[in-house]
Amino acid sequence: MKTTANVFSNDEITVTYQPCVCVNAERCARELSNVFRQSIIPWIDLDGASTKKIIKQVNKCPSGALKYHINSNKEVA
Ligand code: SF4
Repeated sequence: MKTTANVFSNDEITVTYQPCVCVNAERCARELSNVFRQSIIPWIDLDGASTKKIIKQVNKCPSGALKYHINSNKEVA
């Protein structure tokens, strides 16, 4: 997994996180803790769940701090 500051990628998707937008509701960490980890750095582990589950969770982020895009030339199974 390739990881830079607040950009996290695996083979299929890239997830970005904007800390200044996050409202710290911890919804992501509560609902998908294998991916959105509270005390481990890097805090987002895209190997922790299926891409579909990660996308579903990102879409539930109330603030828009989490966003994703499908990496080019990849389709989600
Ligand atoms: S769900 Fe969104 S707003 Fe809530 S803690 Fe996670 S990133 Fe922040």
